[in-house]
Amino acid sequence: MNFDDPPEVEAFRAEFRAWLAANLDDRYRGLGFATAAEGDSLERLREWNRVLADAGYAAIAWPAEYGGRGASVLEQVAFAEEMHRSGAPGSLNPLGISNIAPAIMQWGTEEQKRHFLPRMLRGDDIWCQGFSEPDAGSDLASLKTRAVRDDDHYVVTGQKVWNTLGHLATWCELLVRTDTDVPKHKGISCLLVDMSLPGVEVRPLVTITGEREFNELFFDEVRVPVADLLGPEHEGWRVAMTTLAYERGGVANLHLMVRKKVADLLELARTTKIDGRPASDDPVIRQKLAKVYLEGEFLKLLADRAISDAAHGRDLGPESSLAKLLWSQCEGHIAEVAAEVLGPAANTGHWGRDRLYVRALTIAGGTTEVNKNIIAQRILGLPRS
Ligand SMILES: Cc1cc2nc3c(=O)[nH]c(=O)nc-3n(C[C@H](O)[C@H](O)[C@H](O)COP(=O)(O)OP(=O)(O)OC[C@H]3O[C@@H](n4cnc5c(N)ncnc54)[C@H](O)[C@@H]3O)c2cc1C
Repeated sequence: MNFDDPPEVEAFRAEFRAWLAANLDDRYRGLGFATAAEGDSLERLREWNRVLADAGYAAIAWPAEYGGRGASVLEQVAFAEEMHRSGAPGSLNPLGISNIAPAIMQWGTEEQKRHFLPRMLRGDDIWCQGFSEPDAGSDLASLKTRAVRDDDHYVVTGQKVWNTLGHLATWCELLVRTDTDVPKHKGISCLLVDMSLPGVEVRPLVTITGEREFNELFFDEVRVPVADLLGPEHEGWRVAMTTLAYERGGVANLHLMVRKKVADLLELARTTKIDGRPASDDPVIRQKLAKVYLEGEFLKLLADRAISDAAHGRDLGPESSLAKLLWSQCEGHIAEVAAEVLGPAANTGHWGRDRLYVRALTIAGGTTEVNKNIIAQRILGLPRS
């Protein structure tokens, strides 16, 4: 960050940096994200998660009573920056730790908190989020997967899609319709579903990058104990909003990866020759490099503003849509410029993968069009279309 770290954040940063230097060995460095991990790399990611958990670093934003550190926003930023700087791998349980746990803390019974949170923290359970359906994505409240009460169980039938990590998950935060006779937001409930229950089927979807990040989930009369209802019955929309609020809260760290990629791209342009000269000497490419550099810096300014708001107790407003939109555009522009620098070689390796993956970034966490609507209405004050 460019803000001066207050002394307690500086101390935390120094302590964590020293801890990383002592504990992050090459077995773990650069392992990437759980979404792309399989076999041995998944096991090493689990191992690294336990090393973090044992030291109290697996979920620093959680309150101490659940195994976190109650870290301030600035400490969380310092943590993310140090993890990124050191090449530490991504989270084993990203949806669980960042999105689902806050919902369990806010809405869960004492028993649910005591049972689920420690297992999530140590990576004993990996969690996925079963929200989207084939006909309910941006318009999530239209979801149709139904749960019918039968004594002390709900009987769940329906289909979910675009489910990240479902192939590895042991538990799912599932949105279901429990009342069809009320306005659509009011008839939804949230269930915590054991993925090993009879009737749950996970079908991996292979994406254009060749990775198995997503899954379709099918529920065929799955009997979920009523004890696994999260929050009050029919109040699932409010539980979902708690979960998604934390997804949007990730805005503050988006620039870290973007600015690293811009730096890599500049290096690539300096070292790759076009017609015998460095690509960075080409006047058209130079303009484009300058543009992505500035986009990365602009994203950092938006992030600083979001961090400042959070540090002063202000909610993240519609500006998060601006940051999300700029982030996905910037990632797309970086991939385009890399393709101009590398020519046909841009179709392979990590630049080739990025060039395909950036499409997903225009959809995940709110699509480009939906975010433009939010910006138009809530920032620019334009009328609804
Ligand atoms: C990387 C990634 C990870 C994901 N992980 C999960 C997960 O773990 N769990 C989960 O439940 N879901 C997940 N999703 C699904 C994601 O939430 C949905 O894809 C998203 O909500 C959009 O829904 P949709 O795909 O049905 O598209 P739709 O909502 O059907 O949209 C189709 C097109 O119409 C446009 N559109 C829609 N509404 C409007 C409007 N009002 N005005 C103008 N244009 C509009 C959209 O912008 C889009 O271009 C993930 C998606 C991605 C890409």
